[in-house]
Amino acid sequence: MKNWAGNLEYSSAEVHRPTSVGALQELVANAAKVKALGSRHSFNTVADTDGTHLLLDALPQEIVLDKEKGTVKVSGGISYGALGRALEDQGYAIHNLASLPHISVAGAIQTGTHGSGVNNPSLAGAVVSIDLVRASGELVTLTADDDEFRASVVGIGALGIVTGLELAIQPTFQARQRVLTGLSWNEALANFQEIASSAYSVSFFTNFTGDTIPQVWIKALETDAPLADMFGAIPATVAMHPLPDMSAENCTEQLDVAGPWLDRLPHFRHEFTPSNGEELQSEFLLPLDHAPAALRAVRNLAGKLAPLLFISEIRTIAADDFWLSPFYEQQSVALHFTWKPLQSEVEEILPELEEALRPFGTRPHWGKLFTPDQYDFAALYPRFEDFRKLVLAHDPSGKFSNALLNGILHRDS
Ligand SMILES: Cc1cc2nc3c(=O)[nH]c(=O)nc-3n(C[C@H](O)[C@H](O)[C@H](O)COP(=O)(O)OP(=O)(O)OC[C@H]3O[C@@H](n4cnc5c(N)ncnc54)[C@H](O)[C@@H]3O)c2cc1C
Repeated sequence: MKNWAGNLEYSSAEVHRPTSVGALQELVANAAKVKALGSRHSFNTVADTDGTHLLLDALPQEIVLDKEKGTVKVSGGISYGALGRALEDQGYAIHNLASLPHISVAGAIQTGTHGSGVNNPSLAGAVVSIDLVRASGELVTLTADDDEFRASVVGIGALGIVTGLELAIQPTFQARQRVLTGLSWNEALANFQEIASSAYSVSFFTNFTGDTIPQVWIKALETDAPLADMFGAIPATVAMHPLPDMSAENCTEQLDVAGPWLDRLPHFRHEFTPSNGEELQSEFLLPLDHAPAALRAVRNLAGKLAPLLFISEIRTIAADDFWLSPFYEQQSVALHFTWKPLQSEVEEILPELEEALRPFGTRPHWGKLFTPDQYDFAALYPRFEDFRKLVLAHDPSGKFSNALLNGILHRDS
């Protein structure tokens, strides 16, 4: 089995597709090494194991609304696309989506996956309760009343197999999408927070070269104030793809045409595969206040980065309180890099990029390419030591561990 990008062949000796949670519990209890695989959209080895891989797609796939409570209960392996469609059919929504809807709910949330919006927390922000099968095989349900809830929701797969999640829902809403072109870097850096806060969700697409940012995607709610002039940027008159040479056919509708949230918040339509997987990704998250300085630091490396880049995307995310969330107690800016499929060249440039971003308290995206030994995780995450202790308490033999997790959790920094 390979991951979506094809840059990684998993090393599992066995693959199981349990058909009941009971069977899954038994498999976990009896395994020496075991991990869940979601939709395999991670770019690094966070999901890898040399033991047993569990696929959750043969479990009963539930999407159960509790309209009175304002939540939906979902099986962990369900995709955001399927969930979004089921919610929309019943007149409901969740607060935000990532750039593509194909990813699994549990896998996305475990790695801190996010969309954009200064007031929008990551996808984990919607979690009300989580069903987790621990290393012992025990099934527990954790809610916000349990301290371990805040450790387990963004748990990078280290605390158990997530079989179900209860997510907060809200009435469905409409959004409209406008792409602005040619925003000058000077204006973007001088007014970053104002532009990023100008609508529900804002994304900047650039390769860091030149004097202008080629595209700014603005996803506005019907209730947002009409967009004012955006520092000289020009609204596109045709639909755009973030990559200049690609057809906009597989992108969600733009040109201010209002539509349901699930067809506007992702950049890519659910019915299309966003690309053939021939790309790599990295992403770095840091306090929003530092955005202009961090962007300047990256621009200083533009000459080295641009030849390796398809495109970069800059987004914002609200703070949360999940111990290992890259947004833990910090409203953040996310600097995302979609690389060409040149893994060794990318791995060579990453430490230089990570070093340039280190002064800003940068945390890496858990599901994308980064260099673990570039980070002092204990300093970056105030509850890191508590997380480590919890992992040791619940999984003393390291059943859910792998080389990447060991490098993150058990390295003396
Ligand atoms: C084209 C593309 C676009 C992307 N866009 C975004 C974006 O907009 N924003 C963003 O933040 N990220 C984005 N990502 C990254 C992606 O969201 C994360 O890598 C995410 O983890 C993918 O979820 P998955 O189900 O594929 O997880 P996998 O890669 O299958 O697994 C990731 C981790 O989750 C664990 N896991 C999976 N299922 C479970 C479970 N049931 N219980 C416990 N642990 C589990 C795995 O063991 C592993 O540790 C994108 C990736 C791609 C390929």
